[in-house]
Formats: sequence, structure tokens, C-alpha cells
Amino acid sequence: MAGVEVRDLSTVYPNGVRAVDGLSLRIADGEFFALLGPSGCGKTTLLRTIAGLEPATSGQVLIGDTDVTRTEPGKRRVAMVFQDYALFPHMTVTDNVAYPLRVRGVPRAERVATAERTTANLSLAGLSQRRPAQLSGGQQQRVALARAVASGGELLLLDEPLSNLDARLRLEARTFLKRLQRELGLTTIFVTHDQAEALALADRIAVMDAGRIRQLGTPSQVFRRPASTFVANFIGSTPMNLLDGTVADGSVQVAGARLPVPAGLAANGDVVVGVRPEYLTLHPSPPAEPAFEGTVAVVETLGVSSLVTIECAGGATIGATVAEGSEPGVSDKVYATPQPGRLLLYSRDTGELLDPSDG
Ligand code: ADP
Ligand code: MG
Repeated sequence: MAGVEVRDLSTVYPNGVRAVDGLSLRIADGEFFALLGPSGCGKTTLLRTIAGLEPATSGQVLIGDTDVTRTEPGKRRVAMVFQDYALFPHMTVTDNVAYPLRVRGVPRAERVATAERTTANLSLAGLSQRRPAQLSGGQQQRVALARAVASGGELLLLDEPLSNLDARLRLEARTFLKRLQRELGLTTIFVTHDQAEALALADRIAVMDAGRIRQLGTPSQVFRRPASTFVANFIGSTPMNLLDGTVADGSVQVAGARLPVPAGLAANGDVVVGVRPEYLTLHPSPPAEPAFEGTVAVVETLGVSSLVTIECAGGATIGATVAEGSEPGVSDKVYATPQPGRLLLYSRDTGELLDPSDG
């Protein structure tokens, strides 16, 4: 088993596109690590550079304690599952799964035994003589995974492996993948543009933009304290409220409300105020503490909760989630208080979180 370290890595394509731009990160042995970011931010390129399928322009890649920056892909002991699975259409399931072992010269009996054991573990028993076209999308996805696992790599690289599955199958495959990763203890880098997938699966997440990491942390860290408005906009299934505000004398004027500035924060002037809909509490009458106030414009059902859209003074709109069964009526007057410690302030200039711990 092995951890991974990337040091000041840049990958520039011949056409001049700097897809990975001076990026550094460390992934622990056995960790499930997610690379999350919008399409085109460099996730696939980073994965391919770690695998050795794209040459690094500068910087280093280490697997375990070994610098593999100039090592050919076949010698890196890395297994990759591609977004389109890349199965061989003319080969059976067993031959597909055994293929990397065949390339390495493993004797036939041994590689067939490994392939059959792995496919059985991945709920593919009974399908070993089928060809990819005779399998469902979910089964093809598991064959690609079985091939990667059977290859015996120390590092598993997964490029959006669930994106070709429909919503229900995606949830099943997600749970399956997490269990498999835990059982095998494989160091795994999982690429996705789906924030819910990253939050659900990963031990830690790197949020990427334009070839760089914008934030690196546990799912709860990036959800609770997004380091910038970019990350705040990207994470969460209901969008975070981000409102222009102005700080003076220890309080922030925002959407017609006057709220205390978070403890220990020396902010002044123009800011962006961030608070998740999940962290607002609604009241039908004025509460004791400072609150947003407005009228209910829309109520949307999310399942066990509902998203309430409130029109505040000055035309600002905020969202708040409430438990199923306690929704206010449309046009009701309501008050919304942020839960303690959940109000975040961002620089209006840079979009970066103003953090008391930064002094
Ligand atoms: P992601 O996987 O996050 O969608 P990619 O790593 O595929 O992003 O792409 C990052 C950037 O590099 C994009 O601007 C993309 O257009 C560019 N790019 C990707 N592959 C190539 C290539 N082979 N040649 C030139 N540019 C590329
Ligand atoms: Mg990609």
C-alpha cells in the first residue's frame, strides 16, 4: 500500500493549456480522496499525470516514497478506471479483468483464478463468459472496477466512474464502491464534478478550479466553512445564501437586517455574507436575537425538508430550509436567525473567507 504526494506539479499541453498549475497535495495510505471541481478544471489531467499517461511539465509525483515522475505508466503500480470504462468489446468479462495481468506475463491459470475471485467479490459471478455489450451499465462499471482491483495496483485512480449510471444505480454503486474501498484498504483518488458524491464518499476533498486547489479538507470542513465564495457556490445541494453586506461598529448590515459580526473577526467595510439555508431558523414572530425579516415568496418540497424563499428588505432574497410539516404559507411574514457560529463573512474583493484564526 502507498500514499501519494504531488509537489508543485504543472501539466501544460502542447497547445499551451496549463491544465494543472503548480499543484501540491499529500494523500495518506488507505485514504479515499476526492478531486472535485467543474468541468475543465484539470481533474482528469491531474489523474493522468499521476498515472504517467501525461508527462509532467514540472514538479514531482511520489507514490509511497518513490519519485515516479519519470517512471513509465506500467511500472507505477497504479490502476485506473476511465470515465468510459474502456472495456475491450470482443473479450469476455474474465479476459477483460485478467488483461492487465496478461500484459505483465502472469500465467494463464493464475490470472483466470484472480479474475474469477475478483469478479465474484464485485457481484459479477455468473457473468464471466459474457461480453461487455451483454451487460448493463452498472455491470460494465463493476467489470472496469474489477479489472483495476485485480491488476494489483497499490493506488486506485477513478475518473468519474459513476457518471454514466442513472440516478438510482449511481447511489447503489456509490455505496458498493465505498464498502469495497474500505475492505481492500486501497489508496483511492476519485474524480467527480458532483459535490454530493464527493461529500458522501471521501475522507478528504480537494476542490479544484483552473488547475489549482481552492480548498482541501474533510467533507464537513468544506461544507461548514467554504474557504471562498467559489467553494461556497459549488458545495451543497441547496445553494448557500451569499449576500452583499457592510460592516461597521461590530455589526453587519445585510438584507435589511443588522447582525453581529462573528466573534473575533476584525472585518470592516464591504463584505459578502454567507449562510446556508440549513443553518437558518424560521420564526413566525420577532425573536429576541437579531434576525432577517421578510415575506415568503416560494416554498419547495425537498423530501423530509422544504426550501423556503424569503423576500427581504431592499430586494434581497434568502433561502431557509424547514422540517417537513412546519412550512410557513406563501406571503406569510417570517423572521430568520442564523444558528450560532454559522454566519460567514467573505471579502467582497477577493471572495476569500474572513477567518478569525487568520488573526
Ligand atoms: P476535467 O477533467 O476537470 O474536466 P481536463 O483535465 O479534462 O478537465 O481538462 C483541463 C483543461 O485542459 C481543459 O481546458 C481542457 O480543454 C484541456 N485539455 C484536456 N485535454 C487536452 C489535450 N489532450 N490537449 C489540449 N488541451 C487539453
Ligand atoms: Mg475529466
